[in-house]
Amino acid sequence: MRYPITLIFLLEFVFSSAQIFPVEIYPHDYFRDPLEIPMSLAANFGELRPNHYHMGLDIRTQHRENLPVLAAADGYVAKVVIEPLGFGQAIYIRHPNGYTTLYAHLNSFFPALAAYVEAQQYRLESWQVSLDIPAGMFPVKKGDLIAYSGNRGGSQGPHLHFEIRRTADDTNLNPLLFGLPVPDNTAPEIVRLAVYDRNVSVYEQSPRFCAIQRTGTGLFTVTGDLVTVAASRVSFAISAFDTQSGSTNPNGIYEAVLYKDEVPLTGFRMNNISYNDTRNINAHIDYKTRETGGPFLQHLSRLPGYTPPSIYHGGDGVIDLSDGVVHNIRIEVKDAYGNTADLRYRVLYKPSVMTAHEAAPLTGKEFYPGMLDTYETNDCAFYIGEKSLYDSVHIPFNVSDGPPSPVYSIGETYIPLQEPLLVRIKAKEDQIAGGTDRIVMVRSHGKEKEVQRPEWQGGWASARWREFGDFQLVQDEEAPRITPLGIKDGALLSKATQMAFRVKDDLGAIGDFRAELDGRWLCFTNDKRLDYIYKFDMHCRPGRHTLKVSAADVAGNRTTSIYHFTR
Ligand SMILES: [Zn+2]
Repeated sequence: MRYPITLIFLLEFVFSSAQIFPVEIYPHDYFRDPLEIPMSLAANFGELRPNHYHMGLDIRTQHRENLPVLAAADGYVAKVVIEPLGFGQAIYIRHPNGYTTLYAHLNSFFPALAAYVEAQQYRLESWQVSLDIPAGMFPVKKGDLIAYSGNRGGSQGPHLHFEIRRTADDTNLNPLLFGLPVPDNTAPEIVRLAVYDRNVSVYEQSPRFCAIQRTGTGLFTVTGDLVTVAASRVSFAISAFDTQSGSTNPNGIYEAVLYKDEVPLTGFRMNNISYNDTRNINAHIDYKTRETGGPFLQHLSRLPGYTPPSIYHGGDGVIDLSDGVVHNIRIEVKDAYGNTADLRYRVLYKPSVMTAHEAAPLTGKEFYPGMLDTYETNDCAFYIGEKSLYDSVHIPFNVSDGPPSPVYSIGETYIPLQEPLLVRIKAKEDQIAGGTDRIVMVRSHGKEKEVQRPEWQGGWASARWREFGDFQLVQDEEAPRITPLGIKDGALLSKATQMAFRVKDDLGAIGDFRAELDGRWLCFTNDKRLDYIYKFDMHCRPGRHTLKVSAADVAGNRTTSIYHFTR
């Protein structure tokens, strides 16, 4: 009897994968690779990035821009996004099989779409747009040219960022599960093991590192084999990477499962992650170690505040060793094609006097995941939401004199926050004597500086922040500076290809930029939040023109410049 191919695939999948993951089936012949050159990856799905998992594939473009980008399957253009960071310029194509593909960091769109997008930008008077496009307006066939590749937005070199999403719930899926032509028959590498004392917070200890040895293809062990620990409850984390055939580029691993005496306890898998949950990567990695200059470590345990949906399946991965018996540990690491690496060692609990907790005295009030709590003084308060913390932790609080006003130091930047922290500061009487209009709240940490216009209530300013740091109320009187690049008042610009401006503010953040040509809005781009650039097009005809450029900071201080020129 002959079984259909999909059934054979299903059976293989069920028997070869750990019991803790649900079975999922993906179509294998539906999507084509979106470039005309052989497919090679600079990054894969689930790779570890600052504050997010990598949500698609970074496909190499041979260090070039403007390669034709092709529709991965039949469908229609459902959305276009243009933004200074992130995707830069991106197209979403919706397919009739329930998936959406996304193509990002693009230089340009196919002509009809480019014309439509530009018309919308002029209608909305905004270069930055997120346009939902009605079905049927721009249908595409598999392999149709839809765009040219580039390096726009949050991209550090020419490549195509490609995503596959489940349209119904906008969840990103691992594109390597769809049978794209990326050969890979090499097993992942495991390079580091870290051990945590789970009787205390992961943020109130430094993990113990164990050296790893390779003993064969895909086989690893801990040097000395036996890991003796001083804590009755421990968890583990690893550093690991995967490579594709014919490439040395270190990509992310697909899954890892922790076994104690051959029983699977927990595991994670990079198969589907939504943008709503992507910041939870800060609970997946050992954030403190990374933030303080160490390597990426991926926890083989689910922190208490990493609530579902998460990449973890099974239990929490914390191992109770209080029976004092030697246990066999195995960590099985796979890539998306099932190539496997195994790390085996033994572990034994031996009580000792010194624990990580006693080693460093802790300051500050203790806060817990899943619990709303506050800390209040006469002139500063902060609120930690139920979904803010991943593990319990003491949060230090200190006040120091400005200038020009008190600085409130809250927490440590190596403690990650999922939902933002609310900070309230009471302004000094003399500081708000002239009104609160130009007072901003500044968060700083080292050279990092962020500014927000706070909300006011009875002399208290409040703002929400995604990270701990030093907080201060500052009077902002200084407007942004606009520096013209290659344009002077009275200039003859008949041969120029573009006009550009550099806009800087003393506190760093530009709240608004607007340019008007002869009283009409003119579209300046602002890729990577660098210079504001207008490339001459039909919106500036030959003749004499007046260009008015204005920029405002977050506090609302505005600078306006006027230039006359001839085109
Ligand atoms: Zn990418």
